[in-house]
Amino acid sequence: MSLEKQDLAAPAPSDFIRDIVAGHVAEKKYPQIHTRFPPEPNGYLHIGHAKSICLNFGIAHEFGGVCNLRMDDTNPAKEDIEYVESIQADVNWLIGGWAEKELGLTPAKAPFYASDYFDQIYEFAVALIKKGKAFVCDLTPDQTDEYRRAGKASPFRDRSVEENLDLFTRMKAGEFPDGSRVLRAKIIVDAPNIWLRDPLLYRIKRADHHQTGDKWCIYPMYDFAHCLSDYLEGITHSICTLEFEVHRPLYDWILENLDLPKTLPHQYEFARLSLGYTVMSKRKLMQLVEEKLVTGWDDPRMPTISGIRRRGVTPEALRNFAYNIGITKYNGITDVSVLEHAIREDLNKRSLRRLAVLRPLKIVITNVPAGHVEELDAVNNPEDETAGKRKIPFSRELFIERDDFQEVPPPKFFRLKPGGEVRLKYAYIIKCDEVVKDASGHITELRCTADLDSKTGGATSARKVKGTIHWVSAAHAVDAEVRLYDRLFTVPEPDADGDFRQHLNPHSLEVLTAKLEPSLKDATAATRYQFERLAYFALDKDSGNNLIFNRTITLKDTWAKEAHKAS
Ligand code: ATP
Ligand code: MG
Repeated sequence: MSLEKQDLAAPAPSDFIRDIVAGHVAEKKYPQIHTRFPPEPNGYLHIGHAKSICLNFGIAHEFGGVCNLRMDDTNPAKEDIEYVESIQADVNWLIGGWAEKELGLTPAKAPFYASDYFDQIYEFAVALIKKGKAFVCDLTPDQTDEYRRAGKASPFRDRSVEENLDLFTRMKAGEFPDGSRVLRAKIIVDAPNIWLRDPLLYRIKRADHHQTGDKWCIYPMYDFAHCLSDYLEGITHSICTLEFEVHRPLYDWILENLDLPKTLPHQYEFARLSLGYTVMSKRKLMQLVEEKLVTGWDDPRMPTISGIRRRGVTPEALRNFAYNIGITKYNGITDVSVLEHAIREDLNKRSLRRLAVLRPLKIVITNVPAGHVEELDAVNNPEDETAGKRKIPFSRELFIERDDFQEVPPPKFFRLKPGGEVRLKYAYIIKCDEVVKDASGHITELRCTADLDSKTGGATSARKVKGTIHWVSAAHAVDAEVRLYDRLFTVPEPDADGDFRQHLNPHSLEVLTAKLEPSLKDATAATRYQFERLAYFALDKDSGNNLIFNRTITLKDTWAKEAHKAS
């Protein structure tokens, strides 16, 4: 099924950025629309980045354009090849197959690097110096801040072009210590917009760069490198988040003051994604990883693309989410239930239904002889006829969910109780005759009888009972570690007040040994499963001979139910 095509092609979303692009296409302003997604390789991508990826690649697709993946790698001190590789893997997972088919692009295999332009960016800096529009400044970082805040001119502002050229060349040659000098644009010392107050263009920093090694000891600042990288790649629409709106005059100033021959790119801003019950800044995610509050960047509780993938979410579900939330100019918090809804909708369609018992309670069907095994038919996916059926073994000793039996049941308890009846899914109606306990009063097994005329789908199965529960055959069950993940934080805005770590959910992970129906021995990483009546599950990447399943998401929103109860 071409889900990939379907979810990105139609109906094309509409928002203010797409309206702008559509206007430009109508007036043939550019030969081709060209966007980019420019992550800094200083951490793993998160779901906010997914929104940006879908926007930029989506626009390229809808308007017959191109989109570049570009590593915005101008700050070697914080960057690492590990992050370059994780970004490639994550972009490839999210849109790789789609982009190749729809755009003829393999963005993750051939990313662009801002560092590839260091020579040209250096020459642009020289050009600004020659035009008297940049100067070398010897103020300390603290003094520079102080002067800029006060709207005061640097005492080095009026250096001659010759002196600036000489000093800048020597900065590049490594004659000065780190941080001792910078190159600054000469714009307006007391501009209302602080970004125009002679902003920094280059700094001295001896750091090994993951792409350029030790070739450079000066590195361009983000604001200088970004607009020029956009220009050099022929970007038409440089789309970023709202906090860059105040940088836009600087973006334009740099490009407009270099007498550039090609068409200039323009910057457009949209509201970043903030999602409830999580934190999104790379700094905070890094803190969770470094303080071992999670197992790594790809911990299934993390809002990173790699965490979301490991949890079992599909790229289609994440892309649908990114499309559904829309693009606006207003910052707000997206309810996490919107994401969870997209995940459930996707998994409901594709998951194979399986029987599994998380907290086993043994039952013995006393009127089924020992050694008797019967193969019963079970439906693989009621949402998809083509998924077919499978056989599940039924025998004398079974496991059911401990929760599905109550010795002293509350009213309207339609599962198993002493003397009560329940249907075993795909099998028979059973009756609980006896509760067996150990010396301490703990229930060790139930003794039941099956109504052998009540087989599901059988000629005499018409009799109905109110409850149906899941089960597995004890002798045939396979053991698996199941990891029950829940939200990482207990409040919608963990970073609204004080230390976000105080809101970590102490119950965000529970690990159990479950009993699974035997067909799950052959579970594959590419398949999604619904353990019936429980939740959606996917194999963990570390699953091997010992099966490990991650709970991707519960069948229903238990948080909404809790919130409802509380109010
Ligand atoms: P963070 O602020 O989370 O640390 P960042 O903005 O520093 O992230 P970059 O690697 O610079 O991360 O981001 C790459 C691109 O992704 C930028 O264009 C940025 O605007 C966009 N982006 C980052 N965070 C979000 C978000 N939460 N929602 C939408 N787009 C985002
Ligand atoms: Mg950034």
